Amino acid sequence: MTDHVQAAVIGGGIVGCSVLDALARRGWTEVLLLEKRELTSGSTWHAAGNTTFFGHYASITRLYVDSVAAYLRAEQETGQPVGFHPAGSLRLATSERELAAYRSLKPMYQAMGVPYHVIDPDAVKQVHPLLETGNLLGAAHTPTDGHVDSSGATHALAQAARKRGAEIRRQCPVQAIARDGERWRLETPKGDVTADHVVLACSFWARELAAPLGLNLPIYPLQHHEVITDSVPELEALDFEVPTVRDPWAPSNTRQEGHGFLCGVYESEPEFWATDGIPPDFAEELLPPDTERLEPHLLKVMERMPAFGHAGIKTVNNGPIGYAPDGCPLLGPVESHPGLWLATAFPVGIGTGGGSGGFLADWMVDGKAPYDLPIVHPSRFSNDLSRDACLAMIAETYRQGYSMPTDR
Ligand SMILES: Cc1cc2nc3c(=O)[nH]c(=O)nc-3n(C[C@H](O)[C@H](O)[C@H](O)COP(=O)(O)OP(=O)(O)OC[C@H]3O[C@@H](n4cnc5c(N)ncnc54)[C@H](O)[C@@H]3O)c2cc1C
Repeated sequence: MTDHVQAAVIGGGIVGCSVLDALARRGWTEVLLLEKRELTSGSTWHAAGNTTFFGHYASITRLYVDSVAAYLRAEQETGQPVGFHPAGSLRLATSERELAAYRSLKPMYQAMGVPYHVIDPDAVKQVHPLLETGNLLGAAHTPTDGHVDSSGATHALAQAARKRGAEIRRQCPVQAIARDGERWRLETPKGDVTADHVVLACSFWARELAAPLGLNLPIYPLQHHEVITDSVPELEALDFEVPTVRDPWAPSNTRQEGHGFLCGVYESEPEFWATDGIPPDFAEELLPPDTERLEPHLLKVMERMPAFGHAGIKTVNNGPIGYAPDGCPLLGPVESHPGLWLATAFPVGIGTGGGSGGFLADWMVDGKAPYDLPIVHPSRFSNDLSRDACLAMIAETYRQGYSMPTDR
């Protein structure tokens, strides 16, 4: 049996569920999400859930801000908790250049109505008493962001979409997509589906799915480590949750997890994974951790946060993240293939996924982007970018961590 829908979304991570929810909210109820395994099966289930309002690129701040709003709205609509901890974030500065860049962003946050302060090292110490502030000149403080439960947020979006009439088919891999007259045809083991619009929200799997259409999507999986510690007495002694720290000097983000720390590390020599193709049986898996590689980075985190150095390490997770060369998502239409849309290559999909669903749905429904955001447009990369060029650019983007490149 062939079903026909207005839009078929491929991939049930946080991004696909967000697109589905946003389309349903815009009144497209003939929408279907196809997930090859279970919701959150890809990178989403093991993400740390950080949802800062100060990400890698200032120009996509609105996607970050709209994401937390989308998760909280879905929680309210469905009763599914998203586990939002509004502990705030600090983005540290050890140079005048960083501090000046942070100050220059203030009007943007004011215009968005988002609390944002550039504070001195004494104030940093008050907000986060466990930080060594010796080499700090200050920090940007976004006191109302924080972190969510990534799976909880995904399920809340999925439930909100279902309540508006959207359908989700789990254990239903899309094996091929092809143009069929005015429509798209999606092959699945449970029968074909036709759709006016197709959204590829399947992270690094999108590359292989799109290849038979003549598309060379510049997205490859990179390994990313996070370290979770045991409880530490210094955190147990506080009567508040410390904010997440993003530190360009020790490229990492570190937040409180219970009474321990959760630290995501940006390595200087990142490793890729499965660049020749994703193993067909890869599912809900982590990659073997490499603590030796992490050691020099963790030593710097310990210098910044001595309590981190006293903590026993409970878990080290290494998971793949789909990256585009500039570390921004591919979000928008594939202009050479009418009706085909990308919502993929999200390195911080929890931070930006909620807002990106709304951004893409508005574009699909209204026929134009809700606001100008060329930094995410899929057409910014040429279709003949070589694999080696892509990998070199991704590695460079990743190793920059939280530095403030002039063009961001
Ligand atoms: C250790 C670690 C920590 C992280 N921490 C954070 C964090 O704190 N904050 C943050 O913002 N991000 C974080 N991330 C990144 C985050 O996990 C990703 O950006 C996000 O999960 C991407 O979501 P997605 O929906 O695009 O992709 P995925 O979650 O990978 O979902 C893609 C889905 O598509 C499905 N699929 C694939 N092919 C097909 C097909 N042919 N048919 C049907 N379905 C298909 C897959 O099964 C999968 O469920 C972290 C990542 C790692 C590895």
